[in-house]
Amino acid sequence: MANKNGYSDLKMFYDADCDLNVLKGKKIAVIGYGSQGHAHSLCLRDSGMDVIVGLRKGGKSWAKAVDAGFQVYEIADAVKQADIVMILINDEVQAKVYKESIGPNLKDGAYVAFAHGFNIHFQQIVPASNINVFMVAPKGPGHTVRSEYLDGKGVPALYAVYQDVTGNTLDIALAYAAAIGAARAGVLETTFKIETETDLFGEQAVLCGGVTALMKAGFDTLVEAGFDPRNAYFECIHEMKLIVDLIYKGGFSMMRYSISDTAEYGDYVIGPRIINDSVKAEMKQVLKEIQDGTFALNWIAENNNGRAHFNAMRRIEAESLNERTGADIRALYSWNKPETLLESEKGVKVGKLF
Ligand code: NAD
Ligand code: MG
Repeated sequence: MANKNGYSDLKMFYDADCDLNVLKGKKIAVIGYGSQGHAHSLCLRDSGMDVIVGLRKGGKSWAKAVDAGFQVYEIADAVKQADIVMILINDEVQAKVYKESIGPNLKDGAYVAFAHGFNIHFQQIVPASNINVFMVAPKGPGHTVRSEYLDGKGVPALYAVYQDVTGNTLDIALAYAAAIGAARAGVLETTFKIETETDLFGEQAVLCGGVTALMKAGFDTLVEAGFDPRNAYFECIHEMKLIVDLIYKGGFSMMRYSISDTAEYGDYVIGPRIINDSVKAEMKQVLKEIQDGTFALNWIAENNNGRAHFNAMRRIEAESLNERTGADIRALYSWNKPETLLESEKGVKVGKLF
């Protein structure tokens, strides 16, 4: 029943509701050893689970997983041995890898798990009818999943059951969530549809697309009015962190308590003029295109066609004035070790978020 905040009646589970024993005697293959993969593997093992890692031979994660003490196999060989297969490789390659190496090698009655609903919801992966399918999606990057676990805490997660042939997939999903520490914080019920649609909408309209477009529009407005790009960068981009940190800690109220009354007044009267009804109308259109599969279709086509548009946009954005200015601004902070996107792509990435 909806309560006074309009919450629906989604269930929330905690450690006391989850029985780790249902995972005893089951071999878990974690496929991929990136942000989520390394965190799940290590936390599951520390929770007493039998974990192996499935990777591409010669891939750059192989040595890392071996160094961490895991038995590492090529994906097909890991899947053949496993009762539970958690797929933590990039979403856009999952369908191909599933078709070639995972699906044909699954044991009868195995459990296939995901940390994001895209491929199941948009039917890029259609597991056979003798396979259980669930999701455990931590609401935080892998390095935080791991550090919170080590701290005796946990990152909250969403769980969903898509296909249940053995009748205990919910118990397995909850135990998995508990074994990576999520049930110490709370594990919230969802569906593959809800998780996929809200995740895509949030990252496109607000967290990634919306925020960067807003900052860039502000930066460009000041620069086009003749201000130095460095002034524009400080005011419209760099200081975003201070605001977001306050919101993270105590909501808009704490942020508004911490800024001047002048800033707070401007927030109330100008904010809705910037993010106005036409922006809201566009957001609704964006949500519609997520729900009707238009976005998925475009993104899948982009990947099937060598990512010409994606790669060009990535290059154009990386070369932009705001990015060049940002590198100079960050260099002013001696405690801020400069890290360019290219360096981070070379493997020092600590936490990819979305
Ligand atoms: P990542 O990019 O950090 O790691 C992906 C791993 O897959 C890497 O080890 C990469 O080498 C490997 N890989 C890539 N292509 C491959 C291929 N063709 N064959 C075999 N291995 C391949 O990814 P991630 O952020 O850990 O995301 C994994 C899953 O978790 C995704 O479904 C994502 O949506 C989900 N997720 C991520 C986060 C997050 O914060 N990072 C949070 C929740 C859910
Ligand atoms: Mg996402």
